Amino acid sequence: MTKEYLIAANWKMNLTTHEASILVHHLEKSLKAYRDVEVVLAPSFVHLQPLHQQIDHRKFRLAAQNAYHKDSGAFTGEVSFTMLRHLVQYVIVGHSERRLYFNESLELIRDKVAAAVRNDISPILCVGETQQERRLGETKQVLHDQITTALSNLTSEDIENVVIAYEPVWAISTFGGELAKPADVQKEINFIRSQVAELYGKAAAEKIRVLYGGSVDQHTARGYLELKECNGALVGGASLQHHKFTRIVEAAHAVARESHGQ
Ligand code: PEP
Repeated sequence: MTKEYLIAANWKMNLTTHEASILVHHLEKSLKAYRDVEVVLAPSFVHLQPLHQQIDHRKFRLAAQNAYHKDSGAFTGEVSFTMLRHLVQYVIVGHSERRLYFNESLELIRDKVAAAVRNDISPILCVGETQQERRLGETKQVLHDQITTALSNLTSEDIENVVIAYEPVWAISTFGGELAKPADVQKEINFIRSQVAELYGKAAAEKIRVLYGGSVDQHTARGYLELKECNGALVGGASLQHHKFTRIVEAAHAVARESHGQ
């Protein structure tokens, strides 16, 4: 069976609306519509509406980088999943920058995952240990706590729409950017699937898409995408440069073709 990849661009709090439009313009020129690679762009909230008008929907899907778990109400400054439901297919939930800089708790992230699913949006749930947790040998405990709490309000039907991104904090470019070895990533992705299997059974664990994120660029992408259990990448810094991001998407397409023996 041909492997299908999801390559998501997390632009974080970067780019003006004009710059975002230019970046998409370049990507539309350089990228083909690949059947085996789903390309997802996660700009900031203000760019979602204009980009929704601009993008070729055969080539790109949109994601928000965050949202609030209540559907509506007196929550000044927040944007709900309900407001996003016809604009995006995905929302990044529990990114380490939100956990660390905005003190998002395990329970808040659980509520956001549930709100995403309730609004027919697929959450890209980010999980991963800090450098200190890694040094203390706590990686598996951290992943266990993050995954079991985040998924605890979902049914086995809901879980089909969830994507998990393994993002060790120490490997994210803005937190140190130490390169993770693909063999180590493979082990943690297997552990993540084992946690999903405990909660929802083996079939769900095999089916759920697990991405890798952490300093993925045009040179390192292949090493992670070639891992049997890895379904794609969440890309930060390198997604802001169209030539780098294009090469990452092309690498995914090439690996997908090879896995199909073409
Ligand atoms: C991220 O922040 O999700 C990320 C993976 O960033 P980078 O690719 O820059 O390490």
